[in-house]
Amino acid sequence: KQNWLQRLASGLKRSSDQLTGSIAAVFTKKKLDQAMLDDLEDILIQSDFGVDMATDVTEALRRDRFDRDISSDEVRDVLATEIVKVLEPVAQPLLIDAGTRPYVILMVGVNGTGKTTTIGKLASLYGAQGKKVMLAAGDTFRAAAIEQLQVWGERTGAPVITKPAGSDASGLAYEAVERAKAEGADILIIDTAGRLQNRDELMSELEKIIRVIKKVEPSAPHATLLTLDATTGQNALNQVEIFGKRAGVTGLVMTKLDGTARGGILVAIARKFALPVHFIGVGEGVDNLEAFAARDFAAAIAR
Ligand code: GDP
Repeated sequence: KQNWLQRLASGLKRSSDQLTGSIAAVFTKKKLDQAMLDDLEDILIQSDFGVDMATDVTEALRRDRFDRDISSDEVRDVLATEIVKVLEPVAQPLLIDAGTRPYVILMVGVNGTGKTTTIGKLASLYGAQGKKVMLAAGDTFRAAAIEQLQVWGERTGAPVITKPAGSDASGLAYEAVERAKAEGADILIIDTAGRLQNRDELMSELEKIIRVIKKVEPSAPHATLLTLDATTGQNALNQVEIFGKRAGVTGLVMTKLDGTARGGILVAIARKFALPVHFIGVGEGVDNLEAFAARDFAAAIAR
């Protein structure tokens, strides 16, 4: 545990240092006044927390501490408390119903956000639990994506269902669900394309994949997970919006929290969409996937 907490802390260090520095610069006087609250609101908005969150935090301070002595440490405590309030409800494990076989997980997300890596990590995690995992190389657009998934399959012992590059992705998804059923797989994880250059085409393709999956198994996909790169800023909000609307995202995986993460954006996303955050990625390695813990995250960014 220590190890991944350190990775998380180092990933959030820049956000945390920036916040600490800016807050310390504002809360030099003793008594909390309106100017300090306004400055704090600006700091939080600049740190990607979003307007709503910035308002929540300043309102909490105004209500409880206005015109009273306050230190920058205490302000950060209040911030951490407000962050936990937002994140605790969304920090939910992915519950895989053992009675649903195959449990079909559709992985969606923009290229480069860590979709394929996360699939590999999940295959390893569930494989280690004794579950029979199958993978489907649904990013039929890129030969490299198919190969990359095959490498993860070899590494984790999970069979990978593929078709040649350029094949129809929904056809592959259809076949994959049929095979997972026939072979008694516990979990099927389906990769998808993530090229954003042609957003509408991509979203239509995802919708088609979902329709086709339902022809084989009406209750599937049982989870649709969106990977988000924690080092990107406001754009992540758009990604949740678009994939949420068109692909029916049921939960999030925040990757690269060991990088120079923009910590505030995760809070803004949780505040706005209230989607469960099932996992966080804290490295490129197969073991670098962790359950999301609200208190650890709040401590790493606001203390
Ligand atoms: P995809 O295009 O969405 O499938 O993204 P990939 O899985 O290929 O990942 C893109 C890059 O991000 C690769 O170099 C991965 O090793 C890296 N990556 C993925 N997850 C993490 C993470 O949690 N931490 C770090 N540091 N790198 C990651």
